[in-house]
Amino acid sequence: MKCVEAKRMINRFVEKKLSWQELEQFLQHVEHCDDCMDELDIYYTMNKAFDLLDTGSHQNYNFKKMLDEELHAARRAVIMHRTSLLLRDIFFAGLAILALLGLYFLFIH
Ligand SMILES: [Zn+2]
Repeated sequence: MKCVEAKRMINRFVEKKLSWQELEQFLQHVEHCDDCMDELDIYYTMNKAFDLLDTGSHQNYNFKKMLDEELHAARRAVIMHRTSLLLRDIFFAGLAILALLGLYFLFIH
């Protein structure tokens, strides 16, 4: 993914509107690109600060830590999603093998 594509996804990442595939590619890019990570940091901080102003909250927030936690959670979600797809594939492969074995014993034996 190029920087221009990653930067175009920043707002949708913050709003949690990326598809699984986009999210995975976006995370891979920002983890290795300081420039895009900086831009994500700025956008995220501004976005959260405005949200908190709206709620009238005056606590101190560590936006860098909040972003790190969200990136971590997103990374975990991508891994869980991939694992569930893999398990689904293994499950259906198992079913297919059982079906073939069933046919084998029904018709050949
Ligand atoms: Zn970049």
